Amino acid sequence: MLIAGNWKMYKGPAAAAEFCLGLREHELDGVDVVVCPPFVSLGVAVQLLAGTEIAVAAQNVHWEDEGAYTGEISASMLRELGVYGAIVGHSERRQLFGETDETVARRADAALEAGLFVIACVGETEQERERGETEGVLRRQLSVLKADDNLVVAYEPVWAIGTGKTATPDMAQDAHAFVKVLLDVPVLYGGSVKPENAAELLGQPDVDGALVGGASLDLDSFTAICRAAIHS
Ligand code: PEP
Repeated sequence: MLIAGNWKMYKGPAAAAEFCLGLREHELDGVDVVVCPPFVSLGVAVQLLAGTEIAVAAQNVHWEDEGAYTGEISASMLRELGVYGAIVGHSERRQLFGETDETVARRADAALEAGLFVIACVGETEQERERGETEGVLRRQLSVLKADDNLVVAYEPVWAIGTGKTATPDMAQDAHAFVKVLLDVPVLYGGSVKPENAAELLGQPDVDGALVGGASLDLDSFTAICRAAIHS
């Protein structure tokens, strides 16, 4: 089981340091834990979690090693900082910042090539689900990705992200099973995961962990979700 916390654009270096010092105090054997701070807080998180089993990943990564790409960060820069992995293709990147399947694939390929662990996000919008297009959307988004030992997919139905609406355990299980037919990699569920619903979602046979947004910002709720993973 893998539990990854996506902090989005929350927690600058001071708040990240406070969270990481607190996280160190928790006994989380039996679950792989990753935190994904914003770029400016990666360094402090790497330093404060050094010597623990908790990994630090970025929320995005560019495909070029360096160049005139204002606002972007490369895989080698992340590696230099001691960062372990990166999220690519989060729905907020796709919806708000013009990320496409093609750019997601380029980011994933470059990150894997550079030795980073990659969490690639896929998922349908509410309209796509209502129109019965969920499988078609997943098929299209996954078609650009290649299975790799360092790749996991996060199935994140867009309608469940930050909305408080969660896929039912059956919906998550069906989507995860479908993803695994197309790509043989572990699949995390993401979309309003909280301590109250984590055990049931994580108990599904094809749910291999969770990508947690809002609930990962609070130490008590994040560690409660990690403990639910240990027991599922
Ligand atoms: C996410 O940002 O990946 C996410 C799943 O957010 P939330 O848990 O807040 O829905």
